[in-house]
Amino acid sequence: MMYRNWGRTVSFHPARLVYPQREEEIASYINQAADQKKNLRVVGAGHSWTPLIQTDGVLLSLDRMQGLISLLPTDELVTLWAGTRLHAALSSLWQAGYSLANQGDIDRQSIAGAFSTGTHGTGKAFGILATQVAHYRFIDGKGQIHDIYPDEKPELFRALQVSLGLLGVITQITLRVMPRYYLRLIKKVEPLEAVLEKSEMYAAQHRHFEFFWFPYSPLALVKLTDISETPGRVSFWRRWLIDAVWENGAFWTLNKIAQVFPRRSASLCRFAGRNMTAEERIDRAYRIFASPRWVRFREMEYGVPAAVGPEVLREIRRWIEKHQPAVSFPIEYRYVQGDDIPLSPAQGEDRIFIAVHMYYRMPYERYFREIEAIFQSYEGRPHWGKMHTASSEYLHRVYPHLSKFLQLRDALDPEGVFLTPYLRKVLWGEKVSVSVGS
Ligand SMILES: Cc1cc2nc3c(=O)[nH]c(=O)nc-3n(C[C@H](O)[C@H](O)[C@H](O)COP(=O)(O)OP(=O)(O)OC[C@H]3O[C@@H](n4cnc5c(N)ncnc54)[C@H](O)[C@@H]3O)c2cc1C
Repeated sequence: MMYRNWGRTVSFHPARLVYPQREEEIASYINQAADQKKNLRVVGAGHSWTPLIQTDGVLLSLDRMQGLISLLPTDELVTLWAGTRLHAALSSLWQAGYSLANQGDIDRQSIAGAFSTGTHGTGKAFGILATQVAHYRFIDGKGQIHDIYPDEKPELFRALQVSLGLLGVITQITLRVMPRYYLRLIKKVEPLEAVLEKSEMYAAQHRHFEFFWFPYSPLALVKLTDISETPGRVSFWRRWLIDAVWENGAFWTLNKIAQVFPRRSASLCRFAGRNMTAEERIDRAYRIFASPRWVRFREMEYGVPAAVGPEVLREIRRWIEKHQPAVSFPIEYRYVQGDDIPLSPAQGEDRIFIAVHMYYRMPYERYFREIEAIFQSYEGRPHWGKMHTASSEYLHRVYPHLSKFLQLRDALDPEGVFLTPYLRKVLWGEKVSVSVGS
């Protein structure tokens, strides 16, 4: 059978696709793969653009290992099977009286899949999503099960927080939660330059701050989100109207026109920029964080040091205005708190994450390549799940703890069960041809 990811950047034929239901089965698949010298990759929801899950060996899905294992209200800890989809976990948690402190833009990923690539939301006081983890249970390349807590094995714990499926199969994750809360989202349209000038202030004054900018438009859509003391609820139909009809339906039409008339991109972007609408809504936290994304696209995102975020965006803007690429998707700008996770793009310092997108049926290569060069000139770090062409040499330079991570990895997976040509190329610089994804 053929497996395809959400972004249509990866398609491949694994020798076997397996859906274990128990940890012992996972251990036995790992041992079999090691004996047969095959590789094994775990897939979450297939929402990464890079070919992290690509294998000609065993593709292991935890779709049958989903749901709540335990909730400890006094400690505000919840343990979930690693295959649980974020949206399912979040609505069950709400019913039980809890929320996550932070989320990303969508909630379709599996918990282990999202956390393993450094998935993040936005907020000066919030790190990548994996900073909310309190415990991992995983099975290494020798089929051994480990329970890892930060105070007992800090180095291994931090390595697991962004591990790309390289250390083993995570089967259970314990998350810190907080009493459920409502968020007030304010969207407003402002000139891009004014937003860049105020970006530090916005990030300091609001729990979550981000903005979207359509290339060629002088305007940006700012999103400021804070806790609301009063509960609120947006009706299903209003959400459907805004999310489905406007954000997805009209946007799909815009992209289709851009696909057929690429030279019209600039005027389409300016039209979209002018028609971005201000809005205010209060709703359950998990509904404010995530939006449906029905228009398929490709994405590249780098985290650059927070101090240079506005400068990097200005440079991207100058390049776009000079070279006039055909693009009809906005650029997204978010703030992430620094951490001490070796493979986190925010390791060591706060970073601004800038994401560029392209409708999946339009050529993206030149647009991504030129903007990637700008990101790299500021020592940006790529999001592991999003498209990039960073060499292993570059990655070792900007991720100073990568070598140590790989040594730890080798000890846990001496047979290299979790390694594939793509990973060998990206992480070790091995000369292999990989024709998909990045
Ligand atoms: C529409 C869209 C919106 C997005 N929005 C955001 C966003 O707001 N912020 C952001 O940072 N990213 C975002 N992403 C990127 C996305 O969050 C990541 O690529 C994420 O890793 C995908 O999760 P997944 O469950 O699909 O995992 P997959 O893509 O299936 O796998 C990702 C990695 O996790 C590993 N993995 C999966 N399960 C396990 C396990 N049980 N044990 C060990 N390793 C495992 C896989 O082997 C692989 O290396 C978005 C992606 C899409 C398509």
